[in-house]
Amino acid sequence: MVKIKTISNIFVLIVFLTTMLACGQTSKQKKDMENSNSDFAVKKSENEWKNQLSDQQYYVLREKGTEKPFTGELLLNKEKGIYKCAGCGNELFTDEMKFDSHCGWPSFDKEIAGGKIKTIVDNSLGMQRTEIICAKCGGHLGHLFNDGPTETGMRYCVNSLSLEFISEKEQKNTTSKIDTITLGGGCYWCVEAVYEKLIGVINVESGFSGGTVKNPSYREVCNGTTGHAEVVQITYDNTKTSLDEILKVFFTVHDPTTLNQQGADIGTQYRSVIFYRNEQQRQLSESLIEQLNKEKVYSKAIVTQLSEFHVFYKAEEYHQNYYNNNKQEPYCKMVIQPKIEKFEKVFKDRLK
Ligand SMILES: [Zn+2]
Repeated sequence: MVKIKTISNIFVLIVFLTTMLACGQTSKQKKDMENSNSDFAVKKSENEWKNQLSDQQYYVLREKGTEKPFTGELLLNKEKGIYKCAGCGNELFTDEMKFDSHCGWPSFDKEIAGGKIKTIVDNSLGMQRTEIICAKCGGHLGHLFNDGPTETGMRYCVNSLSLEFISEKEQKNTTSKIDTITLGGGCYWCVEAVYEKLIGVINVESGFSGGTVKNPSYREVCNGTTGHAEVVQITYDNTKTSLDEILKVFFTVHDPTTLNQQGADIGTQYRSVIFYRNEQQRQLSESLIEQLNKEKVYSKAIVTQLSEFHVFYKAEEYHQNYYNNNKQEPYCKMVIQPKIEKFEKVFKDRLK
């Protein structure tokens, strides 16, 4: 027992040291950052940043500083809402990704989809860590560790000062409005990859809906006996895109005229289906289908089902972001890539 206790004490010490060193800086890094400013969509001179940010924000975001642990105002925040980059407003995390890591800084188990965060190897303090920065303005956020307790195994350790939190209530009061819809258009890998590129889409998750089995696995759904369809759940900002646009993308990147089939994928799990959450979503979907049929956009009638949404089960972690993580796989090259290209052609002005 004594031995075990010693080992656990050492473990606690290591965890403590690692979290103590969770965020740090060197003067060389500061220089690197200044030099690489031109790589980002949001470019500002150091004076402009100084005018825009508070002294503390400037120290963390632009000089790669670290706020003292357990002092940040978002550390204990549990409200529903979105965490944005305090430098440029880039959406980075939602409340659903936040967990209590006890490390002293706000922690998240994943980031919003769409490459909003960049990682850099950080060799400061005599160790190798992964620094995370905002992909839009280059602002320093914190560090990424692979010791997270949730299914992703990741811990995005972020300074409160690097973040701006917009609560759901504030979103409703301002012009911004967040909505969610769940769509089945065949293999979810393809559909997810497309929506991640569309302006206004905040988050896309692959999973299953419409069946009878609770928490189904991918294998169970593939057998075609669970009643579930492969779906993507899309969270989007109504001020930047719309349900109309989301559905037009949907009807562009899959074939809504083949019953229970998309290309070589056959079975009810590949059915074309819109899971509506309210009467407005149902009506809009119905009238768009009517319009597409009337204008004979497809040579055959649309067979897309309209079903009331009940529950969404997220697919296993390796299915999330599949295309971006497996671009060299034959399926990605042959099946997903052409769909993305078609989407990019039709919606070229609407890409992130
Ligand atoms: Zn930013």
